[in-house]
Amino acid sequence: MEVEFDTLLSEFEGRQDEIIPILHKIQGTYHYIPPASMLDVARFTHVPESQVYGVATFYSQFQFAPQGKQHIMICRGTACRMSGGTRFLAKLESHLGIKAGETSPDGAYSLEVVECLGLCDQDPSALVNGVPVRINLGADPHLWLTDLTETPLGTLGGEPRWLTGRCGVIAPTDLQDFENHGGFSGFKKALAQSPVEVTEEIVRSGLKWRYTAGALGYPKYIICNADESEPGTFKDRVLMEGDPFSIIEGMLIAAYAIGSPQGYIYIRGEYPRPTARVQRAIGAAYAAGYLGQNIFGSDFSFDLEIRSGAGAYICGEETALFESIEGQRGMPRPKPPFPTTNGLFDKPTMINNVETLCTTAWIMSHGAEAYRAVGTENSPGTKLFCLSGDVASPGVYEAPFGIRLGDLLDLAGGARGEVQAILLGGAAGAFARPDQLDLPMSFEGLKAAGLPLGSGVVMLINTAQDLRAVLHSLALFFAHESCGKCFPCRLGTRYQLEISEKVLAGTATSHDIERLKTIGETMTQASFCGLGQTAFSAMRSALNLWPEIFIGNSESEEISV
Ligand code: SF4
Repeated sequence: MEVEFDTLLSEFEGRQDEIIPILHKIQGTYHYIPPASMLDVARFTHVPESQVYGVATFYSQFQFAPQGKQHIMICRGTACRMSGGTRFLAKLESHLGIKAGETSPDGAYSLEVVECLGLCDQDPSALVNGVPVRINLGADPHLWLTDLTETPLGTLGGEPRWLTGRCGVIAPTDLQDFENHGGFSGFKKALAQSPVEVTEEIVRSGLKWRYTAGALGYPKYIICNADESEPGTFKDRVLMEGDPFSIIEGMLIAAYAIGSPQGYIYIRGEYPRPTARVQRAIGAAYAAGYLGQNIFGSDFSFDLEIRSGAGAYICGEETALFESIEGQRGMPRPKPPFPTTNGLFDKPTMINNVETLCTTAWIMSHGAEAYRAVGTENSPGTKLFCLSGDVASPGVYEAPFGIRLGDLLDLAGGARGEVQAILLGGAAGAFARPDQLDLPMSFEGLKAAGLPLGSGVVMLINTAQDLRAVLHSLALFFAHESCGKCFPCRLGTRYQLEISEKVLAGTATSHDIERLKTIGETMTQASFCGLGQTAFSAMRSALNLWPEIFIGNSESEEISV
């Protein structure tokens, strides 16, 4: 095997930061990571084998046993669970005769369960050999794995369609089509101005760039955080699949403003199709001279590459993302120092998400004043909302900040069934009640009501759903995604899951619920990073709103929250 690996890995000599791309390459070649390969990776990257092993085993997508010819990843995220994803998994296990995590004896199939595939608008969802497919729950089990339909881009709606206007309209990786629809006009304008003027334009718009202009150190890095991994969040997927050049344009503008020569787009491993489209767009941008050295004869040079995650939600935390790009386990760093001065490779780093970078491109193209024409004083512009669960038309809806929650639901055709609860903000969010449809969907409007805007998640839960199953799904997500660095989160998310299992089974006692509250508040106060600090948010919200659902049938005493 040594000769084979020598050929495969020769380009990575001495590159510790390439450990994860190398592991992806090995898995892509052999369909798993042969244990013997760890030593070769260590030899080429000049790090101890134990460190390679530690990195490889941290990321849940790396497989250490051969996968089946059809590798099936089933989503058990909250929306998929509500629409029958776990029922489908059980039927599939029975049909194939294997459990999740196993490969069939003939090597034909392997099954893997993931916490969220980012296809919450197309639930229940699955990836088969990396291709996102729709599951037809009514079909004959024999057809499930032969009659596979690739999922479309998804439903888009709302107005004005500033960020999503090209999605579904242009050929996503056709640069000429992008330019014909106004693409790269913002970057061209930026290039004709000074970096200071570009920064001032963005500041005037009210868009929050996460960077300190005066940070010392070189090179400066710019990162697009495309690691959205939270149940209910899928807007970045739609932008990457529908308008990938727009992200490149936003990064170019930001890089020009701060003088950065190198950027990375960190895309979650569960997004093979978006990754492929962004990769093609980067190739076309290099070919046309938008990326590379001395862009259009200017002094500005910028290189851009993709780094793929491998199944770790925590890598959406900015410092964990840096660790991952540097070839480490994705565990958060202490802050301070902050990324603005000590980020990737300990250099000043600007990190923004996909939506912010696409907004950057729109603002440079249309101007700060145009951007401020909609939205609210403190939340100007438009926002992408991810509507999922029991709505008539799940999808991404673009609307001005401040839109009434009820009006937003109307954009998606309203609720399916009678509304029981609305999860806002994501897995780390909180619940709104059905009588709160007048809520203004802005940072300040929701904050005043004690609710988060988060990643724009609006997940409807109708009265046919068991709210305890929804809470269990969220608890499962956090227990699975805790990185294990600090014990309040490592243990707290596990205990939260155990108690939520009792709640679901109807066997939880008032003592369990008091313990749940103590554990939850301890996680909130004592956890090292935002994941642990917010892992109890939705549970706390439900405890406040519906305390009666937590106690098992055997105990009738009231609980106080
Ligand atoms: Fe890791 Fe959780 Fe601690 Fe964050 S809070 S560092 S995710 S264990």
